[in-house]
Amino acid sequence: MKVISTRNAAKSVSSADAVLAGIADDGGLFVPEYFPRIDLQKAARRGSEGYARLAAYVMSLFFDLGEEELLHITTEAYAGYDDENIVPLRELTGDEYVMELFHGPTLAFKDMALQVLPRLISAALELRGGRQDVLVLTATSGDTGKAALEGFRDVPRTAIEVFYPAEGVSALQKLQMVTQDGRNTDVCAVRGNFDDAQTGVKQLFMDAGFRRKVSDAGYMLSSANSINIGRLVPQVAYYVWAYVQLVASGRIEQGEKVNFCVPTGNFGNILAAYYAHRCGLPVGRLICASNKNNILTDFFQKGGYDTRRTFYKTMSPSMDILVSSNLERLLFEISERDEQAVVGWMQSLANDGRYEIPPHARNELRTLFYADFCSEEETAAAIKKTFDDFGYLIDTHTAVAQCVYGKYVGDTADTGVTVVVSTANPYKFTQDVLRAVGGRDIDDAFAAAEKLEQMTGVPVPARISELKMRPVLHDQEVEVSGQAAAVYGFVERIKEWGDA
Ligand SMILES: *Cc1c(COP(=O)(O)O)cnc(C)c1O
Repeated sequence: MKVISTRNAAKSVSSADAVLAGIADDGGLFVPEYFPRIDLQKAARRGSEGYARLAAYVMSLFFDLGEEELLHITTEAYAGYDDENIVPLRELTGDEYVMELFHGPTLAFKDMALQVLPRLISAALELRGGRQDVLVLTATSGDTGKAALEGFRDVPRTAIEVFYPAEGVSALQKLQMVTQDGRNTDVCAVRGNFDDAQTGVKQLFMDAGFRRKVSDAGYMLSSANSINIGRLVPQVAYYVWAYVQLVASGRIEQGEKVNFCVPTGNFGNILAAYYAHRCGLPVGRLICASNKNNILTDFFQKGGYDTRRTFYKTMSPSMDILVSSNLERLLFEISERDEQAVVGWMQSLANDGRYEIPPHARNELRTLFYADFCSEEETAAAIKKTFDDFGYLIDTHTAVAQCVYGKYVGDTADTGVTVVVSTANPYKFTQDVLRAVGGRDIDDAFAAAEKLEQMTGVPVPARISELKMRPVLHDQEVEVSGQAAAVYGFVERIKEWGDA
């Protein structure tokens, strides 16, 4: 399987090169040359042998790696999950199921892909046969940096350094990062806000002198960006998994359609569901759920993508986004792979902050996609109602999906089996969840978690409670101008460890 760019379909590269490059030379995103067929019988057999097996099968359809090698990767990637099923499916009603994607090391769905990507990078380096290793540099506003650190931790031929704004992350997020272990990981605070840290990292990527020094030390630079195809493909697997679980339990017949309702930000998660559909998974509707930042709702309902609007900070911060990068991959498909059309839309987005797709494309999209959003009050109410009705506690992102699913049923009267995708453990957003179920505000994160446990009976995950006991391993703090020196120091330390 080769991959092509959404902006130049004529030029193809190997999947290994695409995983290493992240983004195409022409600024486009890598997509599969064609959609492979998922054999549902085979998927059912693999699924009966566990999640890692099924994921290896699905990924083998897209990558130049054998199923056995991929099984090695997925087995390692999901070994640290705190649920034996990796991705458990909970039944709420006969029609509604919740797929929990948050049992990884950082308690959110990003782990599903970020545990796999570093191992794919490592395998791609082996395939390519060069001598350089990969050094990932990232600036983080909190969650993605931690998920990337956990993903790259001790993966051969990779190293990662994460910069976070000294005053821009929550106490809990900071604690998660400064206690990070692993010989190939480093964490450094930057004096300034997230933009300062991010701009600093971008400058390092463009600094020829810096690149040369890093290269002399044996590294090529990379970022663990969410548009890397190595993050997208592992996400296709759990949609297939949910489906084969529903068939295996006798809830649906093989071939019967299932809806998926996805809390959406950068459009990666729901795009993976679309890919599963294109590969033959029987999908009814894909329900795109947004918070108050409802740019995608407008796009699906009206056909225009318009970023000239207010940006809101909400209690579902991972969905606070104006430009959903992965949407470009959907545009490529709905235009029937018309790269010129994609280039035009992306230019218009860059120049005017907006673009519009033709009416026939919009109508076609609406037969598959349904989109709606909910307010902050509705999000909190969904947490409360889901807990009251089912004794099931959901986080603020999942609550957006849960709320929009309710609107969908009200609007369409569709009672087909629907899987609501749950993207984070409720304790990742303790304060807002506590308030939603009627608790008083408590400033200290650990005390708030204990209170939520008392009120709901849902245990605090060990990964949160044990943080208090873990030693601080990273206490470096630099000015923006000190980021390069921090990287040199890190590379030196790895070398010393390697020599020792
Ligand atoms: C990243 C994230 C999302 C949004 O997923 P996209 O792939 O960006 O659409 C939703 N919920 C949580 C908890 C996330 O971390």
